[in-house]
Amino acid sequence: MIVFDNVTKYYKSNVGLEKVSVRINKGDFVFLVGPSGAGKSTFIKLILKEIDATSGSIKVRGREVTTMSNRQVPILRRNIGIVFQDFRLLPKKTVYENVAFAMEIIHQPKKLIKKYVPQVLSMVGIASKANKYPDELSAGEQQRVAIARAVIQQPKVLLLDEPLGALDLKLRKEMQVELKNLHETLNMTFIYVTHDQEEALTMSDTVVVMNQGEILQQGT
Ligand code: ADP
Repeated sequence: MIVFDNVTKYYKSNVGLEKVSVRINKGDFVFLVGPSGAGKSTFIKLILKEIDATSGSIKVRGREVTTMSNRQVPILRRNIGIVFQDFRLLPKKTVYENVAFAMEIIHQPKKLIKKYVPQVLSMVGIASKANKYPDELSAGEQQRVAIARAVIQQPKVLLLDEPLGALDLKLRKEMQVELKNLHETLNMTFIYVTHDQEEALTMSDTVVVMNQGEILQQGT
């Protein structure tokens, strides 16, 4: 599904990644763990082709990303959903509209939008807030909306970038369980990026431990 083979990324004299090889299979729930500067963001940006590798091969769903033309990049990204730590919801749209908008921009028919938005809002436990605006929601509720918005496009891969970093401990624990359940329901590949080693170990399927651009350890 996603294969990094001996990937190196230099930013001028800074090392982003050094000879990284990773294989993420379809349907895996993989944790990418490491302190600040480990190369986690670099890894994600390379998958999305927001930056180019210095050397090595990156395959996403069988397609080589490093040599991909600009024209093919939107197709690559169309299959990758992202959930950010800071939610990034549209403040002037309701919960329903935020999630519906994710379908509108990929030109889904109105009928499908009407059918799927309520389903996905229920799935993430936020159906009762459909008509609220983001600033009327708690942080946990906002993150549920962000998750709904990402999964409604039915991407093949969901990137979760420190998704629970803005939540308090109790809520974080709850959401960890819910994300695991969601992963089982959706049968999607999840890549979960965090600096929190404990979070990774308690939730883990597979953990990739990174430090200073290198992989220290990977396994179940
Ligand atoms: P993480 O997300 O784990 O904190 P990053 O991928 O952001 O790690 O960074 C890995 C290394 O690459 C760091 O040493 C960082 O300073 C360097 N780096 C990242 N982005 C840039 C950039 N745009 N220019 C120069 N160096 C960068």
